[in-house]
Amino acid sequence: MSINLSFDRQHIWHPYSSITNPGPIFPVVSANGVHIQLENGQELIDGMSSWWCALHGYNHPALNQAIIEQTQKVSHVMFGGFTHEPAIRLCEHLVSLTPDGLDTVFLADTGSVSVEVAIKMALQYWHGTKPQKNRLLAFKHGYHGDTFGAMSVCDPYTGMHHLFSDTLSKQIFMEAPPLGYQAEADTKWLDQLETLFKNHHHTLAAAIIEPIVQGAGGMRFYNPIYLSALRKLCQEYQVLLIVDEIATGFGRTGQWFGSNHAQICPDIMCVGKALTGGYLTLAATLCTQQVAETICEQNPGVFMHGPTFMGNPLACAVAVANLELLMSWPWRERIAEIEQKLHTGLMPLIHHPAVADVRTLGAIGVIQLHEPVKLMDIQPKFVEAGIWLRPFGRLIYTMPPFIISDVELEQLIAGIVKVLGDF
Ligand code: PMP
Repeated sequence: MSINLSFDRQHIWHPYSSITNPGPIFPVVSANGVHIQLENGQELIDGMSSWWCALHGYNHPALNQAIIEQTQKVSHVMFGGFTHEPAIRLCEHLVSLTPDGLDTVFLADTGSVSVEVAIKMALQYWHGTKPQKNRLLAFKHGYHGDTFGAMSVCDPYTGMHHLFSDTLSKQIFMEAPPLGYQAEADTKWLDQLETLFKNHHHTLAAAIIEPIVQGAGGMRFYNPIYLSALRKLCQEYQVLLIVDEIATGFGRTGQWFGSNHAQICPDIMCVGKALTGGYLTLAATLCTQQVAETICEQNPGVFMHGPTFMGNPLACAVAVANLELLMSWPWRERIAEIEQKLHTGLMPLIHHPAVADVRTLGAIGVIQLHEPVKLMDIQPKFVEAGIWLRPFGRLIYTMPPFIISDVELEQLIAGIVKVLGDF
């Protein structure tokens, strides 16, 4: 039976889509390794890891097996009053992999929810002692999710502030960290950051930032020195530091976490996306013992959050299998090779008249154009070239599954070069 595409187009919302003027949509029937198979028989090389998630590719035997085995034990049970081995094993791994000091884990359902949880932790932390500390410091070009708390800390211009400005909490925004992982530190920006802390610390509960890579707000890489400086100022001015590792976590930038580039430990950290290797939705918010104890020592004595599907055993089991697979694998070497290949393959595009910048970091390659792309026009061209990419704004970017072979990576890069060549 063929897929009912006309029902899809009339009745189903896709991400950031219009029901009345839907963009091109491609029916998928299966996926294996780095290949996504369309209903018409065409096979695409995945350059997106399904939005940063599918590290080990699709249909992986070990991840499949983890879900099958867990299904035969218990697929779901409420986390209020119960616990189970997959959740405990997952949290053991998270505590041990994340920077030393993050000892407490709250399991959430999606990245956005883990950000809501992080914000709520920061507000509850100050609630009993300094309730005037109830705002967040956020950064331009930041992206933290689509729920209301998360939206309030997204870039106020590229985010959705203009649509919901009456409803969103008012936060304090700082210019984005200057562009360039290896660029020299900009002392003016550092001074500005310090001035902002001096002027606003008494109202700031926390600062929130994506470490090293600002993702959906611009695919911008920055010097770890800015993250170290932020950590220091947070400490000095009694402001909690929330690091959003939802996109950067689990090896993507060449380190376990973006925070590792600056060797810092935040007070609160969000992880998600690649946590289950792209199998099921799951995220987590970790915090230090000090944050956890402070929250629990004041009224109402508990942390006020508890999603229905918290700690879902299937999601936890596949996350455990995913992390154990990653730990058993020389991923650092592979990411370094992918980075090198992306750099060599994409850098010549810098001479293309439509291209403003090309940058790579870890297993991420970004081509920034002078003008925004028309997704409706360009997406079918990538599909025709046998690759799957999802550009936005002025950005064509790729973060392939870590298991991509050299040949597949070359095909992916060749597809990008070909489509851009026709511009
Ligand atoms: N934070 C960052 C840095 C993200 O990249 C995303 C997802 N694009 C989110 C938060 C939100 O995660 P989710 O889509 O799972 O709610």
